[in-house]
Amino acid sequence: MIDDDLDDFRQRCRAFLAEHATGVNVAEGDDPRAEQALAAAKEFQHALVEAGLAGLTYPKEYGGQGLTAGHEQIWREEAGTFPVMTRQLSISHGMALPMLNEYGSDEQRSTYQAKVIAAEEVWCQMFSEPGAGSDVASLQSRAVRDGDEWILNGQKVWTTLAHVCERGLIIARTDLDQPKHRGISMFILDMNAPGVEIRPIHQIDGGMRFNEVFFTDVRIPADHLIGPINEGWRLATAMLMYERVAIGGGQALGITHPRADLLIKEAKQRSKLEDPLLRQRIMELYSAEVCQSLISMQTRAALQAGKTPGPGGSLGKLAGANIAAMYRGLSLDVVGVEGVAWESNGRWANEALGTFASGIAGGTDQIQRNIIGERVLGLPREPSVDKDLPFRDLKVGTQAAG
Ligand SMILES: Cc1cc2nc3c(=O)[nH]c(=O)nc-3n(C[C@H](O)[C@H](O)[C@H](O)COP(=O)(O)OP(=O)(O)OC[C@H]3O[C@@H](n4cnc5c(N)ncnc54)[C@H](O)[C@@H]3O)c2cc1C
Repeated sequence: MIDDDLDDFRQRCRAFLAEHATGVNVAEGDDPRAEQALAAAKEFQHALVEAGLAGLTYPKEYGGQGLTAGHEQIWREEAGTFPVMTRQLSISHGMALPMLNEYGSDEQRSTYQAKVIAAEEVWCQMFSEPGAGSDVASLQSRAVRDGDEWILNGQKVWTTLAHVCERGLIIARTDLDQPKHRGISMFILDMNAPGVEIRPIHQIDGGMRFNEVFFTDVRIPADHLIGPINEGWRLATAMLMYERVAIGGGQALGITHPRADLLIKEAKQRSKLEDPLLRQRIMELYSAEVCQSLISMQTRAALQAGKTPGPGGSLGKLAGANIAAMYRGLSLDVVGVEGVAWESNGRWANEALGTFASGIAGGTDQIQRNIIGERVLGLPREPSVDKDLPFRDLKVGTQAAG
């Protein structure tokens, strides 16, 4: 435990960031598999460990600093004024780590938690399958118990950074006779285990940051089950809520409007800010960013009060996707012909193409609207005809109804 008071702590954070948060100096186009960006993130994280600033609110015995939510908030406020260094760790730290902390056994936590905090290990999330994305409970990857191990067969898709991860959290079907949400379990999977094959997916922006992952008779030690057997859906839902907060929760730095600020600057430089229609659209973007900031502040306040993320995280996630879509059209209109440049100055085109992911990753906009409607506003649920039937009797993915 560091004994300094909050003001001293703020000074320590600021000094550390001034020295180490100098930006990831590699363009996305020059780093299609995100390897250089990940190396920079790891270096930054190692320095954080040295400085006693890594894993602020996690317990000391598991590699954290045992500090308070107030310390975490100060760190976020300070870090928000410097370039982001750890974007490539957002799944490992924003989703896998809180899951390990909340649901891991003592043994799992003492084996892995400090390594994940220090980014000695990076973890990925293996939920989506070719026939199970929005409806991920239709997944068909199967784990069958064999003595002290489970044997895993199947396929995942869209697994971000699988190619550079040491381990991942995977959900697989462990009981075909239970209804689809009940026969699922979550495991810690070694990405280098025999039988794991990782193939890159080529993206529209030239990147290859996510993958298809195939499993052929992969052996998982029985003690790598995380949480109770057949309760993986409950854990998966918790992880998705952490994901929505990680994507849409922002840094909760108060009211910010970085995209509008950037476009105002660009429009000024191009003498376009007097155009009333453009001004109106920039103002709409500005308002949307202000609303998202308020949502983020509310979400972070709830987390700091010790609440686990609830369905309200979908509000921030959806707001972020809407802003990304507004920014796409508007930024291209502001920069004009520069927006089609690719080879020499592809920043705008690359960013515009990247914004499409916001409405899909972590659950599509339509799914966020369903969650908000059903679980925040209390509207009637979507009809579900297969909820109580044994999974083996369903017609999903490549499985024909029994
Ligand atoms: C950049 C990026 C990174 C990703 N990283 C990961 C990762 O690391 N790990 C991982 O497991 N997955 C990852 N994903 C996958 C992501 O979670 C899925 O793409 C997403 O959940 C949608 O699933 P799908 O692609 O199968 O689309 P589908 O579920 O097939 O949806 C197709 C369309 O139908 C609509 N739709 C489906 N069901 C409904 C419904 N009930 N009501 C209304 N509309 C509906 C959807 O909104 C969508 O428009 C990533 C995706 C992206 C884009």
